[in-house]
Amino acid sequence: MKSIEPIIIAGGGPVGVIAALAFARQDIPVQVFEAESRVNDNPRAATTHAATLTMLEDLGLVEEVIRRGPAGHPHAGFPGSSFEKRTA
Ligand SMILES: Cc1cc2nc3c(=O)[nH]c(=O)nc-3n(C[C@H](O)[C@H](O)[C@H](O)COP(=O)(O)OP(=O)(O)OC[C@H]3O[C@@H](n4cnc5c(N)ncnc54)[C@H](O)[C@@H]3O)c2cc1C
Repeated sequence: MKSIEPIIIAGGGPVGVIAALAFARQDIPVQVFEAESRVNDNPRAATTHAATLTMLEDLGLVEEVIRRGPAGHPHAGFPGSSFEKRTA
């Protein structure tokens, strides 16, 4: 069987890490290269938007993210998100 070359992702921010997880879940090899020596423990996101929640739900992460985040956040129920339908 022909081996698959890994997808290279430059940057281990939210986009790079979530993209890497999505590839890995499909058994697509991926390598993340992060310039900093440690994870940024001072994230800028105060709000997680509905589309992001829907994507995290597809990856099976939404409950954990909500559990760790501030309660009652205002964008969780944006009309049209699958998250809104599930929690209604
Ligand atoms: C003040 C502020 C408030 C914000 N509030 C929110 C919010 O409430 N909600 C929300 O959803 N979004 C918010 N954002 C936006 C959010 O922070 C960005 O959308 C998100 O961080 C983008 O993720 P990213 O992975 O693309 O980039 P980044 O988070 O910038 O991560 C990029 C990573 O790539 C690394 N890197 C860079 N160059 C290289 C290289 N050449 N090789 C290897 N690694 C490299 C960096 O070290 C970094 O770790 C806010 C942004 C700001 C500035």
